[in-house]
Amino acid sequence: MENVIIIGSGPAGLTAALYAARAELNPLVLTGPQIGGQIAITGMVENYPGFPDGVQGPELVDLMQRQAEKFGARIVLDSASEVDLTHQPFKVRTLNEEEYEAKTVIIASGATPRKLEIPGEAEFTGKGVSYCATCDGYFFRGKDVLVIGGGDSALEEGHFLTRYASKVSVVHRREQFRAGPLLQQRANDSEKMDFVLNSALTGISGNGEVNSVSVRDLVTGEETSLKTDGVFIFIGHDPNTEMFAGALEMDESNYLKTDGQAGTEIPGVFIAGEVGDPAFKQIASSVGMGCMAAIRAQRYLEEPGR
Ligand code: NAP
Repeated sequence: MENVIIIGSGPAGLTAALYAARAELNPLVLTGPQIGGQIAITGMVENYPGFPDGVQGPELVDLMQRQAEKFGARIVLDSASEVDLTHQPFKVRTLNEEEYEAKTVIIASGATPRKLEIPGEAEFTGKGVSYCATCDGYFFRGKDVLVIGGGDSALEEGHFLTRYASKVSVVHRREQFRAGPLLQQRANDSEKMDFVLNSALTGISGNGEVNSVSVRDLVTGEETSLKTDGVFIFIGHDPNTEMFAGALEMDESNYLKTDGQAGTEIPGVFIAGEVGDPAFKQIASSVGMGCMAAIRAQRYLEEPGR
């Protein structure tokens, strides 16, 4: 029987692992598809305190992982696939067909990049369609790419792509960007970036690899074809909560609901990071929730009779 199982290994999960390990709870972390979650595929992180010159996402993951393991966290490359939280001990089953029992569960399962759900998107994923500039930017050296979205991710990752691409055109469905002013300024200042506003992609075409997209002007309704070598999609994320349907309360966008301090309606079940955070979604806020969740788990386990 485990004291604590942590589902997910992003900043929230790894921070929960660090705190739970230091509380001598010998936590078990089920990583999910990749250690580090979304920051494992992020480029430079410039707003995480303690790194005045920024830090590469994968390096930050490595540092967090090493710190948690140093104090005894056990990190297992496997993904939770099913949970039974109806009674103690809680049960967690995995894709590798393991079944664990635990006194407490910390859910830090994060979120997955949203899809446009347009013709050609699935067919050309990995053949010009990407959700990760850090992973795939290199393949677009000297080429023209489109970035879809108007939030921080679109402008930050779009700017990152100017290292490789000769032109980065940001296609956004509105006139105003959602991204913060610093990122907007940087995008405006870049000679390689331009903007296609009030526009939506309606299809992606190619011949083995992407070579064009169709774009609808959302003001006039006019549809045009644009030549491009790549389409990078950054239109937000959906929380990874399917396995908790019916087991835990969710909001209308399927984010898990917390009591504001990482707790849920089930004693012994805690939530950390973006899976329970529709509002902030920052590495720093996820780390804070991971810390809270682990301390709450520790206090729960210290209650008389546990
Ligand atoms: P986001 O803030 O939710 O922005 C998503 C963008 O995609 C919005 O501009 C949205 O348009 C657009 N969009 C959504 N669905 C679409 C669709 N079906 N078709 C076309 N466009 C669509 O997501 P994000 O940029 O990934 O950021 C997520 C969170 O991480 C945010 O809290 C952000 O602040 C944070 N983040 C921070 C940094 C940083 O601080 N450096 C970097 C990356 C991310 P509308 O604007 O019209 O809704």
